[in-house]
Amino acid sequence: MSVASILFPLPLPEPFDYEVPEGLSAPPGSYVTAPLGKLERTGVVWAVGEAGEGRKLKAISSVLPARPMPDGMRAFIDFAAKYTVNPPGNVLAMALRARGALHPSPTETVYRLAGAPPARMTPAREAVLAAIEPHEALSGAELAERAGVSAGVIKGLVEAGSLQALKRAVDAPYPPPDPDGKGFDLTAEQAAAAEALTGAISADGFSPFLLDGVTGSGKTEVYFEAIAAALHRAPEAQVLVLLPEIALTQAILERFEKRFGAAPVPWHSGLADKERRRAWREVNEGRARIVVGARSALFLPFQNLKLIIVDEEHDGSYKQEDGVTYHARDLAVMRAKLAGAEVVLASATPALESTVNAEQGRFGHLKLAARPGAARLPDVELIDLRAEPPEKGHWLSPRLTEAMAETFLAGEQSLLFLNRRGYAPLILCKACGEKLKSPGTDSWLTEHRYTGRLMCHLTGWSMPKPTHCPKCGAEGSLTGIGPGVERVAEEARLLLPDARIAIFSSDTVQTGADTRALIDRMADGEVDVLIGTQIVAKGHNFPGLTLVGVVDADSGMKGGDLRAGERTFQLLSQVAGRAGRAEKPGRALIQTYDPDNPAMIALSLGDRDGFLAIERDVRAELGMPPFGRMAAIILSAPSPEMVQEAGLAIARAAPHGEGIEVYGPAEPPIAILRGRHRRRFLVKAPRQVDLSAYMADWVRRLKLPAAVRMNVDIDPYSFL
Ligand code: ADP
Repeated sequence: MSVASILFPLPLPEPFDYEVPEGLSAPPGSYVTAPLGKLERTGVVWAVGEAGEGRKLKAISSVLPARPMPDGMRAFIDFAAKYTVNPPGNVLAMALRARGALHPSPTETVYRLAGAPPARMTPAREAVLAAIEPHEALSGAELAERAGVSAGVIKGLVEAGSLQALKRAVDAPYPPPDPDGKGFDLTAEQAAAAEALTGAISADGFSPFLLDGVTGSGKTEVYFEAIAAALHRAPEAQVLVLLPEIALTQAILERFEKRFGAAPVPWHSGLADKERRRAWREVNEGRARIVVGARSALFLPFQNLKLIIVDEEHDGSYKQEDGVTYHARDLAVMRAKLAGAEVVLASATPALESTVNAEQGRFGHLKLAARPGAARLPDVELIDLRAEPPEKGHWLSPRLTEAMAETFLAGEQSLLFLNRRGYAPLILCKACGEKLKSPGTDSWLTEHRYTGRLMCHLTGWSMPKPTHCPKCGAEGSLTGIGPGVERVAEEARLLLPDARIAIFSSDTVQTGADTRALIDRMADGEVDVLIGTQIVAKGHNFPGLTLVGVVDADSGMKGGDLRAGERTFQLLSQVAGRAGRAEKPGRALIQTYDPDNPAMIALSLGDRDGFLAIERDVRAELGMPPFGRMAAIILSAPSPEMVQEAGLAIARAAPHGEGIEVYGPAEPPIAILRGRHRRRFLVKAPRQVDLSAYMADWVRRLKLPAAVRMNVDIDPYSFL
């Protein structure tokens, strides 16, 4: 008897064995249904073997008509589960998030013109025949609506032989990309990088690269060459391009379409069920050739993956913080390795992890130092706010306001960057000193003037701004402290009353279309001053932008996070890099109270490598990632007593490990979230330790009350 071990997309520790009935073929990777408890469930055959004597097993019920999951993908799921300390079923669940995709596309009836006009012509029949073009095939509803007739008329025309009814898949295949589309004539530097990438692709097999090029140096153009080469390798060769916040990056999708003659297949959490099912099935069948997606696209069932690009590889949104916590850049490298594919990490400000990998020879290091044509990198100047403070109650220092006025007079554009939404990040009662918090959560409320509400950015909770202090009852005593983008816009309006000023934050642009419209207005010179949060940092190209002002360079430095300096440097260089992309030179003015900080000095000198060298030495000295390993445990419970007790129980259960240090339970900065009390552990280990295995061993020893939730985070990026 043949036995299949089936992995279900459920939090179970391992696959379960089932009998494969005579006449059914279920090789490894097959999608099957089988009884589990009282239900029929869908799972994947993880392995196949022979049963020993006398073993009584339940049988597989059916094999689904989808192409089996390739070996490399199953190995990746096993790896990701072990690495992130999750049951493999939880990772499989992420790979199966497309309802209906395991069955062939549903079909619909469509109609097209056929043969001669009917012997008996009526005005309604005439309207139908006029409403459809010879090359078209339309559904009955569409055609009836266009012609303004009832469905009966269409039926009559089919019977008369003037229309032909056909079956068509509802989820149509995507138009295929054309690898021979024409790109730019590459510069010598770009051509050398492209050649390294295409050379490795034609050698087949795993090869990781760091594509390290200043903003605007043409990294996209270079990886387009790699994509073209990968598509040429085989009729089914597939490419995955990961982008941070893909819903906001319409412009790059258009560049893909221009280059490859067809839009890439999108994958992100905002897709409707139908698009999700279509994309998943087409990827699985090997027909979707270029997928552009968010981090979760790593879990799509590519059949013949040749290349993964991780664009803006340093971006924080690649870290998934809920459920299975993982870093998409790290998993992308592993995904490529297990699929025997090339992987390219692209950035102007690579993560220290990636530069160290390149320095130590684990990644090929391709550098682009110049911008093509006349475009130059902006000059960066620091403004020491201690020496040059803004006027009282203002946030822009005189040097910045003068530069804004000059820029406006010259008919050029400015961008003010402040990573704080709303009007004021803190509401204080002047009478009693109360600072308003979100209910059941350790997070200040932010004042939003446009909506007149106070909002918690952590939980999304909001309320109208009260007229009285909720604590002491004083009337009109609530004051907003500090600036958000709305407040800076108010100041800019006072300064430049004739300027066209716009705010770019997730509050002012909520859909991809809004974002597009605002970016187009800015690119077309219809905005003089754009004031934005971090969403302005993302790769937009504004030819008339010559001045970038960073309102508060220090805001990301607080909180003792090991990557705070690195992140600030990355974000501010990306923002500064928006200036002077076209022929006009740009400048960036950075307001800071801490001009001696290595990140600030490096920004002003344009010395990224110097900054990375300092960061690297500090982290090496402290044994921090990437020179040592870190993991966290985050737990929460409905009461302070319960979380305290659970914390102590977890601490007692910590296994001994050579060189491993465990800190905690500690109260995190956000000690209460949505009414749940929280604690954290931080674990540090030498690089050679298998920290995932250590954490798994620890978790196995625990027995916690059901009300306690616990999450293991390997290589944490958030310490809140
Ligand atoms: P990056 O991804 O490094 O920020 P892009 O690929 O977006 O850079 O290129 C920046 C701009 O320069 C784009 O508008 C691109 O079309 C243009 N560009 C890139 N390479 C060339 C080239 N070889 N010749 C002309 N224009 C180029």
